[in-house]
Amino acid sequence: MAKGMVIIDEDRCKGCGLCVTVCPVHILQLAEDRFNAKGYRPVEVTDPEACTGCTVCAIICPDVVFTVYRRKRQPRRAAAVA
Ligand code: SF4
Ligand code: SF4
Repeated sequence: MAKGMVIIDEDRCKGCGLCVTVCPVHILQLAEDRFNAKGYRPVEVTDPEACTGCTVCAIICPDVVFTVYRRKRQPRRAAAVA
């Protein structure tokens, strides 16, 4: 299961590509074959399972396109001592 998940508000995107350049796992790209309501090629995720939830895309995006969710860490259990 992915550590993170991004929700993309596609029609806010202006296709500037900033987020594509900073995603550390290189899973963002501009759509090649479609346009959003503003007439731009919107950003899309190529491999959702690889998202780390780092939030870099959301921080750099000037148009508040991303909402990032991170999976909570499971608490570690102490090993049983015999
Ligand atoms: S949260 Fe991080 S890993 Fe996930 S898409 Fe954004 S920049 Fe890439
Ligand atoms: S930084 Fe924001 S506006 Fe620019 S391509 Fe990425 S999602 Fe679209």
